[in-house]
Amino acid sequence: MQDPGPASALIGMGANLGDAAATLRSALNGLARLPGCRLLRASGLWSSAPLDADGPEYCNAVAELHSELAPLELLDRLQQLEQLHGRVRPPGVRNAPRTLDLDLLCFGDARIDLARLSLPHPRMHERAFVLAPLAELHPDWQLPDGEPIAAAVQRLRAAGQQVRRLGALTAR
Ligand code: AMP
Repeated sequence: MQDPGPASALIGMGANLGDAAATLRSALNGLARLPGCRLLRASGLWSSAPLDADGPEYCNAVAELHSELAPLELLDRLQQLEQLHGRVRPPGVRNAPRTLDLDLLCFGDARIDLARLSLPHPRMHERAFVLAPLAELHPDWQLPDGEPIAAAVQRLRAAGQQVRRLGALTAR
């Protein structure tokens, strides 16, 4: 894989165990301190009903970083941050409740198709809990088929995905 060079990276953040809002504030702090990265901005704090999963409501947000790290190096750092926040991955269980989930949504316009890393994130456009906070940062974003992001959020909400904005997200 060719290193795409420094880029703006979008990180999808989610948590649904314990004090999920506090976890996201702490994770944002962790993102702001990643070596080779600079936190550019973060969406507000959102709440969403679990999708294809059980458990309590999720807190979600999207952060944008300038990254000098290569995409796989950044993914390593995100997974370290997940572990620092007590993430356990039960073998064979998909969509298990998680203290912290950090997904790399996009890394500039890099396209990557590896077992460990697919970019852009293959399911980001199906998830209102990603698109609603992302729309705050990039209101002019379009889905690959040209659908404006605001219309996509409306469509997913109409299809039953519940998301609501709770307030500002600030690092702590
Ligand atoms: P999850 O359990 O949903 O956090 O999925 C994490 C798994 O997906 C890890 O094994 C990652 O290596 C892999 N993965 C593939 N693409 C991505 C991506 N764009 N962002 C985060 N994890 C990814």
